[in-house]
Amino acid sequence: MKLVESILTKNPCYTAGRKITVKGLMLHSVGCPQPSALVFVKNWNKDSYDRACVHAFIDGNDGTIYQTLPWNHRGWHCGASGNNTHIGVEMCEPACIKYTNRATFTCSDTTTAKAVAQRTYQAAVELFTMLCQKFSLDPLGDGVIVSHKEGCKRGIASNHGDPEHLWTQLGLPYTMDAFRKAVKAAMGGGTVAPGGVSATKIMGAAVATAEQMRAYIKAKNPNVAQSILDMVPLYLSEGAAEGVRGDIAFAQSCLETGNFGFAGSAVTLEQNNFCGMGVTANGLKGNSFSTAQLGIRAQVQHLKAYASTEPLKNKCIDPRFKYVARGCAEVVEWLGQKENPQGKGWATGAGYGEKIIAILKAILATAGSAASASVAVPFKVRVTITDLRIRSSPGTNTAATGKFTGVGVFTIIEVKDGPGSTKGWGRLKSGAGWIALDYAQKI
Ligand SMILES: [Zn+2]
Repeated sequence: MKLVESILTKNPCYTAGRKITVKGLMLHSVGCPQPSALVFVKNWNKDSYDRACVHAFIDGNDGTIYQTLPWNHRGWHCGASGNNTHIGVEMCEPACIKYTNRATFTCSDTTTAKAVAQRTYQAAVELFTMLCQKFSLDPLGDGVIVSHKEGCKRGIASNHGDPEHLWTQLGLPYTMDAFRKAVKAAMGGGTVAPGGVSATKIMGAAVATAEQMRAYIKAKNPNVAQSILDMVPLYLSEGAAEGVRGDIAFAQSCLETGNFGFAGSAVTLEQNNFCGMGVTANGLKGNSFSTAQLGIRAQVQHLKAYASTEPLKNKCIDPRFKYVARGCAEVVEWLGQKENPQGKGWATGAGYGEKIIAILKAILATAGSAASASVAVPFKVRVTITDLRIRSSPGTNTAATGKFTGVGVFTIIEVKDGPGSTKGWGRLKSGAGWIALDYAQKI
């Protein structure tokens, strides 16, 4: 993220000098064909410009973010009470669109326009992640991250349709729900500790799905044993049994086993020990478990020992449970002794928790969503673009059939995860093949 401070000190909103307690963040797009943030910075930094002021502009050409008000300054971005609670951020819009009516436009170069909208979306995710951390905001909290359009629906903003109007008309799959989830994922699926320090609680429901974890490990270790892929769901079920995030346990196993390759690892696949348990000194072989399930259960129980003071639900099979100072590492970031406020923790190496978080983030960034796994079929979708490819199997890595759906309404009879479409792939009733649901609207 490239953030440039460029405060609009001449704007009457700045000189009014009012402060707010930041309760949320509002996403806007400028509503005119001007990709250059600096044009707004220049035009709005005048004492005669008394109509509006926002906290930041995101440049459409290179994604640079220009901060134009102190974050806790009261902005004039949404024309209603949202100004008292929300930071307002404007995404610049492509030069190649032309507004024909309030929020309706034509576009002379869809490829360029999409690239601009994608660039500003990505930068907005990064900026909102930083701001959620800074102000201890939960991106999925009710009314915390909203668009101008959603703000209007909630009665805290004037009647505008931005920025959704831009995404829909350009045929982009973006939604505010996806945006909020992207921010959450960028925060490691975690929460924020008081004071704004990023921290990821070990106890809780998993955020990543089994599909995402499998996709991640297959990408990292193409030779991964089938038995490992088969046991991935055990992380989620064993985690849920003790209230521990199974995706965090899995990320820890990826670290401890070298992505289940066991190269340079003290333990072997046969030990069913996926967390280096009992390897308390170099050269030690560590504990062994009779099944993969029991090995994962012991790991989950050991994580619970660190993260909570609650009793175990299952019988304790963790041979080292008794050695842990219960509750000494509530968050992943404290699992390393170097970072732990009490100097306790699972591992001695520096940055142990951060390494697990980095893996968790990468898992959450892989395709393979939970949503598509539970979609009820059949359902109908509308396709509004002419060039949506039909593929022989779910995923952009499979052969295109050479056919396109064309514009129209189609029936989907099966949904599967696959690369290249975050909403998953839908099998056409006609038998022609699979389409990316990112480019189809469910009706
Ligand atoms: Zn707006």
